[in-house]
Amino acid sequence: MKDASNGNSAIWLLLWEVINSLPLGLSQGITKLYFQALTWKQQGFHSIQEHLEYNKMDVKILPALQDNYMYLIVDKATKEAAIVDPVEPNTVMKAVQEHGVKLTMVLTTHHHWDHAGGNENLVKMQPGLQVYGGDDRIGALTTKVKHNTKFNIGRLNVQCLFTPCHTSGHICYFVTAPEEGEDSAVFTGDTLFLGGCGRFFEGTADQMHHALIEVLSRLPNETKVFCGHEYTLQNLKFALHVEPENENVKEKISWSKQRRQEGKPTVPSTIAEEKLYNPFMRVMEPAVMKHANKTEPIETMKAIRLEKDSFKG
Ligand SMILES: [Zn+2]
Repeated sequence: MKDASNGNSAIWLLLWEVINSLPLGLSQGITKLYFQALTWKQQGFHSIQEHLEYNKMDVKILPALQDNYMYLIVDKATKEAAIVDPVEPNTVMKAVQEHGVKLTMVLTTHHHWDHAGGNENLVKMQPGLQVYGGDDRIGALTTKVKHNTKFNIGRLNVQCLFTPCHTSGHICYFVTAPEEGEDSAVFTGDTLFLGGCGRFFEGTADQMHHALIEVLSRLPNETKVFCGHEYTLQNLKFALHVEPENENVKEKISWSKQRRQEGKPTVPSTIAEEKLYNPFMRVMEPAVMKHANKTEPIETMKAIRLEKDSFKG
């Protein structure tokens, strides 16, 4: 075994003996699981990496930790790149080298450890990185942004969208190609998930309503949605509970099950899709209000978030 040479060698050898004394099928099964776990760990535990190529921008999906996503955004024209929420700096640097891109900036959605916890180490590995974010609690922050702060990744445009609620300094990043009507993508952290939204740790239903309905829903319908966690299937189970008759929820569930069976991410979706199946984007729909037993969208937002907090599916 790989670990037999370290300080715990006696324990490992004993464990190895025990495993080998089990019936053959069982011991082979355990060994296989062990090596699968090692491999998954190396390439992102929960999903395989995917590299999406659009006209002017590429997005490399980098799974991290148990269910987080980091995203490497590349401007194809200049090869300049930004990384969203680099909690695993080693994985990020490996992808940067593999793709021969020039990493110049970090886009931090919010200060929680599973999003911002890798900033300091990444800056040590690549000094001079600009670290963007909307909260003083973000490590290695160099540029504090506000709603509508704009900057560029090479020739790509980035617009910051202030979406407080999950945390009081949460920012979504809306990235578009230089020509209007070309590629657009939004990196939503823990504000908007596929089929759901983040918990209201530091905010109110009013703020989440503003973020989802007044800000994110108004982005172009074809905008791709890249969120902070692989929570899609759990979210859609709740969506189906809220709207048992909604065919779009059912279709997305069977598609997502297929993707997860193949170990593939369910991101991205689009703003148009979210409006069809995400109950938190649909709080003005009669069916959703009826489920919440409310007559008004913000009250509905509050009620379904509360219900989701303890929903077991
Ligand atoms: Zn969070």
